[in-house]
Amino acid sequence: MSNYWAEALETAPREVLEQKQLGDLKEIVQFAYGHAPYYRRSFNDAGVKPSDIQGLKDIERFPFINKKTQRDSQGVGSFLGELAAVPEEDVIFVSTSSGSTGVPTMSPFTKKDFDEWQDVESRLFWMAGMRKNDRYIHALNFSLYVGGPDVIGAQNLGALCIWGGTLSSERLIFILKEYKPTAMWTSPSYVWHLGETATKTGVDPKKDFGIKRIFVAGEMGGSIPATRQAIERLWGADLYDFYGLSDIFGACAAMCEHHDGLHIAEDHILVETVDLDTGEMLPPGERGELVYTTLRKRARPLIRFRTGDIGRFVTDKCACGRTLGRIYVDGRKDDMFIVSAVNVYPSDIEFVVRGLEGVTGEYLIRIMEENFTAQYEVTIEKSHNNPEPDEPVAERASTALKARIGVKPKKVIVLPDGSIERSTHKAKRIIDERKKKARPRSE
Ligand SMILES: [Zn+2]
Repeated sequence: MSNYWAEALETAPREVLEQKQLGDLKEIVQFAYGHAPYYRRSFNDAGVKPSDIQGLKDIERFPFINKKTQRDSQGVGSFLGELAAVPEEDVIFVSTSSGSTGVPTMSPFTKKDFDEWQDVESRLFWMAGMRKNDRYIHALNFSLYVGGPDVIGAQNLGALCIWGGTLSSERLIFILKEYKPTAMWTSPSYVWHLGETATKTGVDPKKDFGIKRIFVAGEMGGSIPATRQAIERLWGADLYDFYGLSDIFGACAAMCEHHDGLHIAEDHILVETVDLDTGEMLPPGERGELVYTTLRKRARPLIRFRTGDIGRFVTDKCACGRTLGRIYVDGRKDDMFIVSAVNVYPSDIEFVVRGLEGVTGEYLIRIMEENFTAQYEVTIEKSHNNPEPDEPVAERASTALKARIGVKPKKVIVLPDGSIERSTHKAKRIIDERKKKARPRSE
């Protein structure tokens, strides 16, 4: 059986892939200009036209859009708004973002967009080791959320699928014991919580369940080695990080068996990394904001969408033989904060907390302002079987945070096991107490 779902595409030489991307880019920019009122206006305002695209790099002459563009243009002129490039009658599905702050944004799909999306999902599941003989439980929310329909990609691959949705932990543990699914998708915080809950009731996820592969998305954890390994140990399973955006697909990228970055669907997404402040395009491999142009989605093309995700994009061939580039996401631009001129990413704090001995791995970050500079405080939990007093635990955490991040937290608070609220989807781990600052959450 092949290692690849679409071998010719996944292992194509870069020149071949980029040639295909260029053809699709020319077409989508023309299509957007011709059919979406927003792009016609913004390209005209910027003095650019579709024929300016001669090579992939020419995309940098075009204006950016972001989440605010989506919000502001939604419902303008028509139900789907000014970024949409097809009439509503051609649209068969919309997902919406969580909209935890502000208006949720819709993402429309034509029939072809939807089918192509599910083919990408099949490819990513296959890459993460799913095969026809797998029993798969899709434990993601189906209501409005773009991750829901991804289960169709697993079905198209031939796996036996169980549409789990958001079940209570008790119910999910029951299904894991009775149906013995071999693969599961949920969020990193939830799979950790679920494993802990099972263990506390005398169930051993390693022996009493049949899970061999866990897919996670929605949070950073799957790409933080200490978190990944802790989950793998708890479950006796391999963990694969997936990455998606409600604006594009439920999953746009996933890990292969080498767990080294996430292969992104470059046949659908042209990836750029840009400087956070100047917006200038950076060479592959440099850390910046990830910017995506959708190459094939017709219902609502995204041309130069600033994702707010900070990371790197590399294009060298992976040990798995795939030539599709890989992204390494470090966190959300909005979640980054600056302490004594040092950029602090919550993912770095998680990296440290998950690597500590004698703690549960749960944490909360509080950011406050003191003397005109930001400070941060970290709350952690001591494991129920750790007899150590709190102080040395706090001291170890503080030292490790300083070593990783460069600046010490103001304080580390140690609480007993179970004090921090567990989350079923996306854990809210940051409390920002600085003066009112708009801090939109990722979806
Ligand atoms: Zn690979």
